[in-house]
Amino acid sequence: MNDNASTQSVLVTGGAGYIGSHMVRQLLSAGFKVAVFDNLDRGNRDAIPEAVELIQGDLTNPADINRALEGRNVDAVMHFAALAYVGESVEQPDFYYRNNVVGTLNLVDAMRTHNVNKLVFSSTCATYGTPENLPITEATPQSPINPYGQSKLMIEHVLKDYAVAYGFRSIALRYFNASGSASDGSLGERHDPETHLIPLILWEALRVKNGGDPSQTKLRVFGSDLPTPDGTCVRDYIHVEDLCSAHIKAFERMGKTPDLGAEQFNLGVNQGFSVLEVINTCSEVTGVDIQYDLVGPRAGDPPELVANASKAMNELEWTPRYPNVRAAIEHAWQWYLKNPPESV
Ligand code: UDP
Repeated sequence: MNDNASTQSVLVTGGAGYIGSHMVRQLLSAGFKVAVFDNLDRGNRDAIPEAVELIQGDLTNPADINRALEGRNVDAVMHFAALAYVGESVEQPDFYYRNNVVGTLNLVDAMRTHNVNKLVFSSTCATYGTPENLPITEATPQSPINPYGQSKLMIEHVLKDYAVAYGFRSIALRYFNASGSASDGSLGERHDPETHLIPLILWEALRVKNGGDPSQTKLRVFGSDLPTPDGTCVRDYIHVEDLCSAHIKAFERMGKTPDLGAEQFNLGVNQGFSVLEVINTCSEVTGVDIQYDLVGPRAGDPPELVANASKAMNELEWTPRYPNVRAAIEHAWQWYLKNPPESV
């Protein structure tokens, strides 16, 4: 338990979602007082420990978030509540801008009303678009190629302007590919719909392990003649527990630095894996020869995104515990073996 943490109270928006629910557990075990704000649209009530208060509400309704902050003496907000599917954002940009931009504006304005002055914001490597140079540093130009990335970049601009005008303190954490499950098996990755690579590969492995015909695979590899070493997309997969530990470091930094302003950090492990490499590692971990179909690229997907996260490592004093995607795959596999999805 962290002594400083015991008196600190954090509101976690999106605490019923994938990353948010892992964050809630890590905050509790570090001794923080935690409440969750979530609309339960895509989150799961049972991902939140029963002892944690859930305020059910929607950020697009300012009254809901004002009610959540009223009289609660919140020290900081960790803001995960957002829509995060690249493909969906291309098809329904209105939905993304309303939830991610309008919703976050409502949140930060309610925070100002209630004198809550510290925000850890979930940003994304999707704000960089298709970078000219790799690996990506925080100085790499941001030029998103899909509405999801655009919506997150808009909020980064808002936070910079709020820092100047109102002294609003924030740290935007630009996540690369969040992956994996709790290392103790207590919590997994659940999305509805599930579109993420590692869960879909492991679901396919589970289907075959349960007697399904390998040739009937539903797994698709999006893009196979891209300008990458094996032609498939390369991503930097960061374990969800490492993402969460960086948020606690960010919170501590905001407490120590009164004139912090708005800061940004990449969160990745400085190593890229191609889609085929991830499939091969999943085959090794599961013992299943996983089959797939090669199809065209998915709209809005850059070929290669790999972080240079040394700023977070140096300035947040953050060290990822799992620098290789294999650990995330192993933990996720253990979770799915015990908690098989209904569709498999
Ligand atoms: N991907 C794939 N097949 C799938 C899902 C994803 O080939 O069924 C690829 C996708 O194009 C991307 C990488 O896997 O390059 C990671 O995708 P994911 O949806 O997990 O995360 P994102 O990069 O969109 O945040």
